[in-house]
Amino acid sequence: MIIMNSEATKEEIADVVEEIKKYGLKADISRGEYRTVIGLIGDESKVDFAHFAALPGVKEARGVETPYKLISKEYSKRFGLESERRVVQAGNISIGGDNLVFIAGPCTIESKPQLFRIAEEVKKAGAHILRGGIFKPRSSVHSFQGLGANGRAGAEEALKWLHDAGQKFEMPVVTEVRGETQIDLVAEYTDIMQIGARNMYDQDLLAGVARTNKPILFKRHFGAGIGEFLSFAEYIAAEGNKDIILCERGILPVGKGKDYTRYTFDLAAIPAIQKETYLPVIADPSHATGRRDLIFNMSCAAIAAGASGLMIETHYNPSEALVDAQQMITPDELKEVIDACLRIHQLIAR
Ligand code: PEP
Ligand code: MN
Repeated sequence: MIIMNSEATKEEIADVVEEIKKYGLKADISRGEYRTVIGLIGDESKVDFAHFAALPGVKEARGVETPYKLISKEYSKRFGLESERRVVQAGNISIGGDNLVFIAGPCTIESKPQLFRIAEEVKKAGAHILRGGIFKPRSSVHSFQGLGANGRAGAEEALKWLHDAGQKFEMPVVTEVRGETQIDLVAEYTDIMQIGARNMYDQDLLAGVARTNKPILFKRHFGAGIGEFLSFAEYIAAEGNKDIILCERGILPVGKGKDYTRYTFDLAAIPAIQKETYLPVIADPSHATGRRDLIFNMSCAAIAAGASGLMIETHYNPSEALVDAQQMITPDELKEVIDACLRIHQLIAR
């Protein structure tokens, strides 16, 4: 971490960046109100901080231990950079600000009429952002794989529907990117790029989506600890993209837990993560529980735990959905969830 003097010149900052490059490292430049701080990205074990401290314009230089420094609250607070939280902007929707954000839509886009009807109804229910899977991560190759499996043309057609539904009902849209080859195509049509739980560890995919400079909805792997989750979010930040929305979506249940819920909703992770980072944290009660009869209570619980919003799978006729039918709620139920969450949010707002 190199902290520049408040009156450091552009040239002095550029010289420091050049020195950093000599070590084979990259620089993350953050301009705060009073000073510029330059973070080193990469293995800094061989860096001579005393050398940096002696360069013109440098106030202080020292190592920072945490593996997720770029997104950490501690780092940004210590250097007076970011405020307590970062508000991520997707179209005209702010995530992580004063208002809760609800992302809703089908698990999987199946047809244009299905998507447009759901979009219209979730918008009426109070949703802000439209979701819909196209490139689906599926446990079995014998199950419906989503329209993304129908070649590039099939994927592009579904992406256009998603984009058009978002335009028509005035909602930014989000869909999952499952592989590097899909990045450019998905970026062309969506406002937010989703990284699914199964791909949390894919460094190349993370770097690739980060470079689109779109907001990233980053889901926690079901086996990942909180530190690990944040360390991988750091891969996105290291590409210069800090528009990251973290999403708790349940971890593997122990013993016979799976007989009752799909995953174990790690509610304590929500405030625990918020202590570490300024990034917004949302929750996904749909995949966390796998049960539509638990969505209302667990949505309320996630908001009470401090989540900035929720992602909820919704369908006008859940039983006809080809994927995740058992966890989808109706738009009417979504409205009840949203109304209750708004009241809870008001109650606990500090
Ligand atoms: C999804 O949100 O569509 C999804 C597949 O969730 P997860 O990656 O959390 O399993
Ligand atoms: Mn799903």
